[in-house]
Amino acid sequence: MIIVMEKNATPEQIAHMTERVQQLGLKAHVIHGTERTVIAAVGDERGAKKESLEVGPGVAEIVPILAPYKVASRELKPDPTQVQVLDFKAGAGVVGVIAGPCSVESEEQILSAAHAVKRAGATALRGGAFKPRTSPYSFQGLKEVGLKLLALARQETGLAVVTEVMSTEEVELVANYADVLQIGARNMQNYRLLEAVGNCGRPVLLKRGASATIEEWLLAAEYILNEGNPNVMLCERGIRTFEGHTRFTLPLATVPYLHRKTHLPVIIDPSHGTGHSYLVPDMAIAAVAAGADGLIIEVHPTPETAMSDGYQSLTFPQFEETMARCIRVAEAIDKSVCTMPVAAT
Ligand code: PEP
Ligand code: MN
Repeated sequence: MIIVMEKNATPEQIAHMTERVQQLGLKAHVIHGTERTVIAAVGDERGAKKESLEVGPGVAEIVPILAPYKVASRELKPDPTQVQVLDFKAGAGVVGVIAGPCSVESEEQILSAAHAVKRAGATALRGGAFKPRTSPYSFQGLKEVGLKLLALARQETGLAVVTEVMSTEEVELVANYADVLQIGARNMQNYRLLEAVGNCGRPVLLKRGASATIEEWLLAAEYILNEGNPNVMLCERGIRTFEGHTRFTLPLATVPYLHRKTHLPVIIDPSHGTGHSYLVPDMAIAAVAAGADGLIIEVHPTPETAMSDGYQSLTFPQFEETMARCIRVAEAIDKSVCTMPVAAT
C-alpha cells in the first residue's frame, strides 16, 4: 500500500510513519515527489492494519497498490526515474546511448571502439567480459582481464562502463570495475543474482528474458529495487516468437506500455532485437520515436572478425550516422540525446 503524506507533512511525521510501517513487518520505501512525499509499504500485508496507519500524523490517505509489482509501479511514483552515472543519463526526457562491442576482445579493439562511439555521441561504453554463450565451446569472454580493459577505456574517454555480471560470486568483482551492471536475458529470473545487484551500489541494466512476460520482467526489477537500489533500467532486447526472419522479435510497443506501468527508464537493444546489422539503424531511430529513454547498440571496429555477434554489430561510420539520425528524431519529439560536455569531446 501507499501512505500518501499531507503536502506540509514534517520530516518528523515522515520518519514516524516510516517506523510504523517497519513495526508492521513491512519494508518502507520513502519517495519524495515534486508535490508530496509518499511511503510505499511493501511485503506481506496480511497482518498490517491499514486503519491504524490512516490515523497517523501527517497522513493524507492510504491507497492500495494494485499492480503485483509495487516499487516499480507508476502508481507509487508518478514522476519518471532518471538514471545517471558519469555523463550518461537515461529517463525523464533524456535519451542515453550505450555503444560498443558485444565482447571485449583486446586492448586495441576496446579502446578504438570507445573513442569511436564517444566521437559519435555515446556517453556509455558496452562490452562483455563475462559472456553468456549458448555453446560452451564459444568464446566465454576475457573475464577480469576484460574488466581491466574496460576500466582503461573509461580512464581514456570518460565513458561510463556497462558490462554483464553472470553470477552472485562475481558481483563484487564486476562492480569494482563497472559503472552499470548488466543482467542478461538468460539471468532475468536468477533471483539471488537480482538481490545481489540490488546491493551492489551501482545502477543496473535489466534485460528482458527472451520468453518473459512484461509482468515477470517488472517483478524481476522489483527484486533489485526492494534491496534499496533505485537505479534500474529496463532493457527490451527482443523476445522469442514463431518468426524466424530476425534473431528475436523486437516489440517497440513495450516502450509506451512500460511508460504507463512504471517510472523506470526503458532502453532498447536493436542489435540483439534484430540480429542483423542492416536492421539496426532503422530500429534505433524507431525506438527513439517510440519514446525510448536509451539505446544499447553493438559497434565493432571490424564486425566481420568479431568474436561474438559481428553480424549484428555496426561499423564506426554506420554508428555515427545512426547517432546523427537518433539526435534528429529525439529533437523532433522534444527530447534530447545526452552527450559528453563539449570540453571532453
Ligand atoms: C549482450 O548484451 O551481448 C547479451 C548477451 O545480451 P542478451 O542477454 O540480451 O542476450
Ligand atoms: Mn551480443
